[in-house]
Amino acid sequence: MALSTPEHPEKGSSQLNEEHQLPRPPPPPQSQTSLPYPDSCLSYWHRTTRTFPYLNHNQTNAVPSSAQYVVIGSGIAGALTAFKLLEAGINPKELLILEAREAVSGSSGRNAGHVRPDAFRGFSGYAAAHGVEQALKIVDNENAVADLVAKFVHEHDIPCDFSPKPTFDVNITQEMADDEETNVKEFVAAGGSLDGVKSYKGDEAKKRTGVRDALTAWEWPAASIHPAKLTQWMLSSVIERGCKFWTHCPSTAITRGKGDKWNVHTPQGIISAERIVHCTNAYAGVLLPQLDASLLTPIRIQVHSIIPNAAFSGSQALKSTMALRYGAMHFYALIQMPNDGMIIFGVAKATGITFDESSYKSEIVDEAVQMFGDLFPGAKEPAEKHGEGLDHAWTGLIAITHDKVPYVGPIDDLPGQYICAGFNGHGMAGIFKCAPGVVSLMLGETWEDTKLPECFQYSHERLLRGQMKW
Ligand SMILES: Cc1cc2nc3c(=O)[nH]c(=O)nc-3n(C[C@H](O)[C@H](O)[C@H](O)COP(=O)(O)OP(=O)(O)OC[C@H]3O[C@@H](n4cnc5c(N)ncnc54)[C@H](O)[C@@H]3O)c2cc1C
Repeated sequence: MALSTPEHPEKGSSQLNEEHQLPRPPPPPQSQTSLPYPDSCLSYWHRTTRTFPYLNHNQTNAVPSSAQYVVIGSGIAGALTAFKLLEAGINPKELLILEAREAVSGSSGRNAGHVRPDAFRGFSGYAAAHGVEQALKIVDNENAVADLVAKFVHEHDIPCDFSPKPTFDVNITQEMADDEETNVKEFVAAGGSLDGVKSYKGDEAKKRTGVRDALTAWEWPAASIHPAKLTQWMLSSVIERGCKFWTHCPSTAITRGKGDKWNVHTPQGIISAERIVHCTNAYAGVLLPQLDASLLTPIRIQVHSIIPNAAFSGSQALKSTMALRYGAMHFYALIQMPNDGMIIFGVAKATGITFDESSYKSEIVDEAVQMFGDLFPGAKEPAEKHGEGLDHAWTGLIAITHDKVPYVGPIDDLPGQYICAGFNGHGMAGIFKCAPGVVSLMLGETWEDTKLPECFQYSHERLLRGQMKW
């Protein structure tokens, strides 16, 4: 595909700040934490939902002096936690959601739009970190979660461009093809099921995927989604039932209050709360300093939106999603939106530890444009039309935990505080079981009741094991 790169952004224009154009804080040492940067850039998902009525809700108002439940963060984890609390019968007036920037300004509004369970691929890594039994539970959990997202969207008829379709893991290098084969063998030997998974080699892999250099491809069911529309729908639903929502209102500290209450400090006042849920993704360390960047590492990923040419338009639009793998830490994520045909192409290559979601790297834009053409040579023809090609580039943070799985549950020594964060770049799949799990725990149920893998449970002891690795 002939892709046009955007003009370099001008000062004051609505385009992105290129990384080298504005002074930026230095990258954080591993002990550093940060509040969200207020000037984070807009993603394709943000740019297509600017009329969300609660985008800047209560921006300049003082916060209420008390709320029984405070959820910090308005991403999928925060929004779904609030939704499930109301479903469990909590009085909406006693529930307050705090968001540091505009609504859904974190990763839930800047990801690659994939709802893609890890059908088996992460098994060996999970087994090395947590043992075979837990690894099997993690993979089972992934598959269950994908169904939960579909069920939730259909049950509530949520207009979020949800589109179930097959996904391909496409291996472009022999190293990745061998790695996937080994993973599958270990998964099956441990008793894992490959129901619904298909595999292709050589020419068949190329034909099925359309990828010129595909060596092998593995296929299973997945979906694409507009993640901001989904999250905004959940926020609207709880706000319209009476839940309070404050945007541009970061929680800057939590201190002990009267009795067993906590004081949640914000620039707009202090809220006395009984229960707090930290749904703050890579930023959790600001309020929970034990989760510094060595145990919850903010890695920045860059994504691109591309207006397709004829090769991916009309009846030629992609019927599947893909992860295109060159190396363990170097792959590309690809989906095409069902409504406007926009191609979303993520360069899943770590670009450093940072809390900065405000800029992008032009060399990664160049790489994305080049790689897209290399992967799908047909997409280079016919010659470029004005309006086709690169639309936008943005960045977001994935929150990596030291042992590959999220932190979920009560926080030791801080009674009444809970966490649901650290989804390792995979939250669209994971959060739909973790957030309901946290709600069950808050309401007095046991870990067993949550049906989550035990290794997801937050504990200081788990953090200590992680610290020993550094
Ligand atoms: C580029 C990219 C691509 C990705 N692609 C995929 C994908 O295709 N599929 C998939 O499954 N996952 C993907 N992910 C991961 C997925 O987006 C995340 O796992 C998920 O969105 C995390 O949701 P969350 O609610 O935990 O965090 P967020 O959506 O980041 O929400 C946290 C919110 O908390 C707010 N906040 C933080 N600190 C404070 C504070 N002190 N006070 C008030 N508010 C605060 C933030 O501003 C933010 O809005 C991707 C992530 C990125 C960055």
